[in-house]
Amino acid sequence: MDRVRPSRPDLADLAPYTSKEMRAEVMLASNENPRNLPGELLDKLADRVRDIEFNRYPDPMSSHLRSLIAEANGLDASNVLVGNGGDELILDCILAWGGPGRTVLDLPPTFVMYGIDAHMTGTEVVRIPRDEEFRVDGEAVLARLAEGDIDIVFISNPNNPTGDISPETLLIDILNTTDALVVVDEAYFEFSRHTMRPHMDRHPNLVILRTFSKAFSLASMRAGYLLAHADVVAELTKVRQPYSVNRFTQLAASLVFRERVVFEATIHELLRNRDVLVTGLSAMPGVTCYHSEANFVLFRVPQASAVWRDLLHDHSILVRDFSRTPGLEDCLRVTVGTEEEVRRFLAALDEILASKRASDIMGVSATAARHEKKGAGDA
Ligand SMILES: *Cc1c(COP(=O)(O)O)cnc(C)c1O
Repeated sequence: MDRVRPSRPDLADLAPYTSKEMRAEVMLASNENPRNLPGELLDKLADRVRDIEFNRYPDPMSSHLRSLIAEANGLDASNVLVGNGGDELILDCILAWGGPGRTVLDLPPTFVMYGIDAHMTGTEVVRIPRDEEFRVDGEAVLARLAEGDIDIVFISNPNNPTGDISPETLLIDILNTTDALVVVDEAYFEFSRHTMRPHMDRHPNLVILRTFSKAFSLASMRAGYLLAHADVVAELTKVRQPYSVNRFTQLAASLVFRERVVFEATIHELLRNRDVLVTGLSAMPGVTCYHSEANFVLFRVPQASAVWRDLLHDHSILVRDFSRTPGLEDCLRVTVGTEEEVRRFLAALDEILASKRASDIMGVSATAARHEKKGAGDA
């Protein structure tokens, strides 16, 4: 055959999430920890790599890591599922609770993978947009859930990319209103310190999602985990890829989790840097900066896409452009980097905005001059 038949028609309006790797001197687009693993952990990891049986399939359930996570959270290993990043676990939840004839409740603007995974599995998506301050419309959500047809709800908490936290009372109301799977995505838990863990015992439909990609400097390894009732974990185990978490990742994530106190200093440093970032952004004329409980900050700036481009091309600083996302017009998201990176970003943005203001004034006076000339000619 000289051709291939078309893929499923419902893929036609899906675009690949990321097609090319973007590089810059200052990487502030993906909410990663700006620092690599501490040297002592790298040394330990290097020591243990030789013992890996590369020829053998990995432990499908990441048992060692799983029990470390369970113990730290006061749970049984049967309440924990480790995945190839939080992303895989989001897909697993939709594979098990979504699919054709089933419905996901999405609260945009939020993490895009919920909608993408729903779409690609033929799951219907009901969207209840957040308000101007990015608050969840609690009344509308509870009313919709009360209709009884929602199978799964995703709540990013803190919400990526807006940074805000939903009130715990609302999350509890949601859990009390529906028997849908309620996935509270705590990818930024180590920064926000807010967790729904205390409510797990009373709510068998609560799933808590976490990741090693953000605070724990392991984005390259692809490791995430969820906490849920054992029945939920058992269902998810039916749809998951059996060997998705490789041996090297299991080793690295176990080491990092066991020694996670060493990350405290960096987390505190990043929270201080976030204050510097927010103060700097708030002081810039024309910039609106939103409150964040995570390691990133969303801000609104006129001509955001042009600003994004100037940051990259003239200053080699990569941030995330959300200006084409409904509800996030003129918004960029910047990850909290090292103090040096934050200062470099603020200085670059200041320069870009100053030069835009200058050219605007010139633009205005050029127009004024044209008008004057025209007027003079008319006279
Ligand atoms: C980063 C992130 C994840 C998961 O990332 P992984 O790298 O796949 O673990 C999940 N949810 C949100 C909201 C995130 O920002």
